[in-house]
Amino acid sequence: MSLYSVIIPVYNEEAVIRESYRRLKAVMDTLAEPYELIFINDGSQDKTAQIIEALARKDQSIRLLSFSRNFGHQIAITAGMDYARGQAVIIIDADLQDPPEIIPAMIAKWREGYEVVYGRRLQRKGETRFKKWSARVFYRTLRALTEVDIPLDTGDFRLMDQKVVEAMRTMREKNRFVRGLVSWVGFRQTAVDYVREERFAGESKYPLKKMLCLSIDGITSFSYKPLKLAAYLGFIVSCASFIYLLISLAQKIFTDSAAAGWTSLIACILLLNGVILLMLGIIGEYIGRIFEESKNRPLYILRQQPELEPGTNEEARWNVS
Ligand code: UDP
Ligand code: MG
Repeated sequence: MSLYSVIIPVYNEEAVIRESYRRLKAVMDTLAEPYELIFINDGSQDKTAQIIEALARKDQSIRLLSFSRNFGHQIAITAGMDYARGQAVIIIDADLQDPPEIIPAMIAKWREGYEVVYGRRLQRKGETRFKKWSARVFYRTLRALTEVDIPLDTGDFRLMDQKVVEAMRTMREKNRFVRGLVSWVGFRQTAVDYVREERFAGESKYPLKKMLCLSIDGITSFSYKPLKLAAYLGFIVSCASFIYLLISLAQKIFTDSAAAGWTSLIACILLLNGVILLMLGIIGEYIGRIFEESKNRPLYILRQQPELEPGTNEEARWNVS
């Protein structure tokens, strides 16, 4: 007998929560093993929390953690991992884009001895062309920039062994890109393919701004290559200017047509200033992150401590980093 923990982050999901609970429960009941459904209410402003509380009164397997405000999806699944007690822990979106029916296949792989089983999206239904394209570009850029082997086209829909979750609990960094951290942890990992469905109801809680933040977190948490860009660009620009200088000198000495100064001068100044500002911005991103870490704040604040016994990690219970 194993205990399974399913982590479901929810943010303003009143339109989908009942249906996802119904489908999840149907799948989990077929396993004939104990399980807990951990809902993390990420500061929803609608009736999400009340709906889950009502469900929890009838169903012992439901646990609800409520944040004091919206901390974001990645932090919500982190809290879920802090409190999960199962031998296998599954993270799934609440909007039924990740079909719960895949979970038994993940569990089968886990029983074979894999410690991480991630869902790989073969196809994405009902998402805009822009979202598909940007996701494609992002995953490939990330792969090119980082040394960590982050699998392509996977989201946070995955199963993790207790050992992996324990390792994850030790990582308290603020700007979290959870799927990257899971890859970093290592262990035996494998994929289960699935078709990402359309959202059941409601709209995406990941607007462009949040998506961009997640991408920047992903890249800056796992690579400092963007910082090296400054050095490369500096080198290229210096070489180019030197050649340009030689050409101008040759023109001056051997011909009558002295370079007309204004246009080329302003072009160089603008270009170089642009490059410098860009580099400052990149450096700023990293310094901002150092600042975030140095403040040493907890990752999240719970509205109230759950009366249930916490996960195995006492530190995580109180968010001590
Ligand atoms: N979510 C969350 N906090 C947020 C944004 C999203 O907990 O600030 C949850 C959301 O309720 C859902 C999951 O994260 O269960 C994925 O969000 P969504 O479906 O909106 O993202 P998308 O699938 O469009 O990338
Ligand atoms: Mg979704």
